[in-house]
Amino acid sequence: MDDEKKKVLTKVDELQDEILSALSELVRIPSISPNYPNVDKASVLGGEGRCNAALAAHYRKIGCDVDMVEVEAGRANAVGVLKGTGGGKSLIYNGHIDTVPPGDSADWKWQDPWSGKIGDGKIYGLGSCDMKGGIISQFAAAMAIARSGIRLKGDLILEGVVGEENQDHEAGTTATIKAGYRADAAVVSEPTSRVSRLVVAPASPGLLYFAVNVKGKATHPGIRYEFVRAGGLGSEAGVNAVEKGALMLAALQKLEEQWGFTKKHPSFPAGYFTIHPGTIIGGPPGPLVPFIVSTYCRIEGVIWFPPQEPAEAIKQELTDYLMKAAALDPWLEANPPEIEWLSYWAPYQVDSGHPICQTLMASHEQAAQGNPEFLSAPRLQGFAAVCDATFFNQAGIPAITYGPGNVLMAHRLNEHIPVDDLMTAAKAFALTAMEWCGVA
Ligand SMILES: [Zn+2]
Repeated sequence: MDDEKKKVLTKVDELQDEILSALSELVRIPSISPNYPNVDKASVLGGEGRCNAALAAHYRKIGCDVDMVEVEAGRANAVGVLKGTGGGKSLIYNGHIDTVPPGDSADWKWQDPWSGKIGDGKIYGLGSCDMKGGIISQFAAAMAIARSGIRLKGDLILEGVVGEENQDHEAGTTATIKAGYRADAAVVSEPTSRVSRLVVAPASPGLLYFAVNVKGKATHPGIRYEFVRAGGLGSEAGVNAVEKGALMLAALQKLEEQWGFTKKHPSFPAGYFTIHPGTIIGGPPGPLVPFIVSTYCRIEGVIWFPPQEPAEAIKQELTDYLMKAAALDPWLEANPPEIEWLSYWAPYQVDSGHPICQTLMASHEQAAQGNPEFLSAPRLQGFAAVCDATFFNQAGIPAITYGPGNVLMAHRLNEHIPVDDLMTAAKAFALTAMEWCGVA
């Protein structure tokens, strides 16, 4: 490692207190995604913009040119450009500033989802892991470079974007791309410390959100024996939609079991691709009581599928499977399930031999400084969820994911991020920027 890189790594360590307090400050500013389901938009709108204003102040203080890209009022994206001297490759460091809602605040440690408290080597609070920690680790890298008096050749573009949590990318990442912020590569700092710490994620799965609806026929449950016992009137008497829904649930689980053997991708663990039945609602018309036989059942779920498979093929496969399962039941054969496709988040996939993957992997190894915890296998692993890297890739900017925190700690109570993850990621981001953009 050359002296300039050593100097920057030392600088990251020297800046630890400043880095932690910057993260703690961002966590203390609530920034719930305003279009998230069941969120009162009016009461949370503006949080993202306030949080990004605080982030932009950090960008300014290290000498970035700052641009607030705002296509929806109260939802400005912060873009800070650490201008290069010229002649190098450019790089985008991107993370989303929005979070999911906190659930019941009283259940959180200190009864405060936005505590930003630092203790036992962790920083706590909603958004600490997903993913203000990632944003700050990228900012910390730029700060260490700037404070070491080092200039890069290519531009380093830092971004805090809005609206990732429910795919409002037109207001967030895609808005920054349309505003002209493009580069030779991008790294999204979503939390990738899962399976092993700080893995490089060259791919994400595709995500489909679907619903399956089945119908029943109402009657008095006192005559249940007529439609469930041999010799009874059968479906002439009544049909319980909840039990027909259970057949569809069993079919979804059977298909998922088969996918465990058939759906594969080299960047994902065996059996990764799944069909998650998320909600089931069924009942009679009117109040949800068992005194009328149920007339409807609706299962909503999400599918995680391999990035190399087209979404249309996955939809067809699920539809065919459910229709075949339905055909085994006379009522469902005559009244087939209705399948709805509610949303789609496309996967992304970058060759693991791509220079941005290779540069980041080599930089991570140097940043880990022989610490075995950060060097255990695998070093490459698909991201366990979807993210904005998809929209960079769709715009022709090769983008991968790498960042501090374990996604298992996201979208849950007492979200937190380990300090050593944050610091190691900051170092890897600093070395990657120096290697990729070149040092003037
Ligand atoms: Zn996230």
